[in-house]
Amino acid sequence: MEKPAILGGNRTLEHENSPEELFHWPIFTEEDEAAVLDVFRNNKMSGNDVTAEFEKEFAAWQGRRFAVACCNGTMSLYAAMFAVGLKAGDELICPTKTYWASCLSAQNLGVSVVFANVDPDTLCLDPDDLPRCLGPRTKAIMVVHYKGYPCDMDRVMAFADAHGLMVIEDVSHAQGGHYKGRMLGTFGDVAAMSLMSGKSFACGELGVAVTDDRVCYERLLAFLHYERNEESLITDPALLPFLHLPLSGLKGRANQICTAIGRVQLKYYDARIREVRRANNYFFDGIEGLPGIRCHRVDESTGSDMAGWYIPCVVYHPEELGGLSPETVVRALTAETGFPFHLLGGSFPLHTHPLFQTYDAWGLGRSSRVAFADRDVRELDKDLKRSEHIVVIETPYFKKLIPEAIDRYISAFRKVFSQWEQLLALDDGPLAEETGQWHAAVK
Ligand SMILES: *Cc1c(COP(=O)(O)O)cnc(C)c1O
Repeated sequence: MEKPAILGGNRTLEHENSPEELFHWPIFTEEDEAAVLDVFRNNKMSGNDVTAEFEKEFAAWQGRRFAVACCNGTMSLYAAMFAVGLKAGDELICPTKTYWASCLSAQNLGVSVVFANVDPDTLCLDPDDLPRCLGPRTKAIMVVHYKGYPCDMDRVMAFADAHGLMVIEDVSHAQGGHYKGRMLGTFGDVAAMSLMSGKSFACGELGVAVTDDRVCYERLLAFLHYERNEESLITDPALLPFLHLPLSGLKGRANQICTAIGRVQLKYYDARIREVRRANNYFFDGIEGLPGIRCHRVDESTGSDMAGWYIPCVVYHPEELGGLSPETVVRALTAETGFPFHLLGGSFPLHTHPLFQTYDAWGLGRSSRVAFADRDVRELDKDLKRSEHIVVIETPYFKKLIPEAIDRYISAFRKVFSQWEQLLALDDGPLAEETGQWHAAVK
């Protein structure tokens, strides 16, 4: 076999020369353009009529009674926390490896985030870690179907039921995915998600929360909106005196340009992500079993699937490759393909960030994370080492199954990982950290 490009061999492929449709996303057509122009030309950006239609259609697709759209996914998750009744002094369990918006806004409610370990194979909340996280003030669990992988909902729901906890699903990576045949976003008391441009369900800047529960629905509306909270919609006597102004003190309204795009995207989404799933499964079939990496994907024979597969990765096991540093692997793969490979795949362990350790938003002389707590949940962070040590390497995010094009990426992986011993020579001490883009890395 030829030498890896990083050691002077020829490149296996030129990423820039791959067919455009291989990675092209989101797929917008003239139908999306017409929907946008209709909102724009009729000056309906700040209205609610298109949004109301979107909500009806989204709820029907999701198989839930209610959907509430808002300006972005972060707001939808914040509202979901309020909707399930989280308030000052309560605790919320959340996996430490996720995008910050899964839990950072909990601090605005005076809620303490207790970080749970993630399972090193699924990268989702490890149900075995829930008993360690449970305290007398635990109110809810935030579940994240991380990078499209469906979290073990049987075990999470059983634990939640046993301890009377609410469950929120963050479906931002997994719209349309399934766990054992049932759609993600239908397990929790509320599910909330981002539909921003980078996600597999991409509509510009948009968030949506779904629920079957009337009380949660009314609380979502009342928290996010005004001029939508008429007495016909809000019936909860606890909310009635506060109608007309948003309980969050913030405005969460969706821009109708985005909900108009959402209505069009919804029609084609299932078919498009089926193609994404075929393409990425094809790639993973081709690299499965290489030493040092585990493909991050679910066994589809159980009825589970990866939906939009945002964002594919492999979990790196340096112990199988003589301790070869992941930085060297990433450089070798980039040299081999021209594709900008990353480590971490975006999220660092959240508990290590100063915003969760020392930031004092409330001016109470203590960390916001424990401002209203009766125990210092930061002490539990010491048991998160095994999540800190997980290394993932992002793989190309294929959008179309073009076998001959994907085969070249498979060959590049095979070439690099079958000659790992030669790469050890490049490993001269720790290299600069190379990461994905979702974060400000903490050093
Ligand atoms: C993108 C994302 C969010 C936040 O959504 P925005 O629309 O960007 O505000 C929340 N959770 C996860 C897991 C995400 O990836």
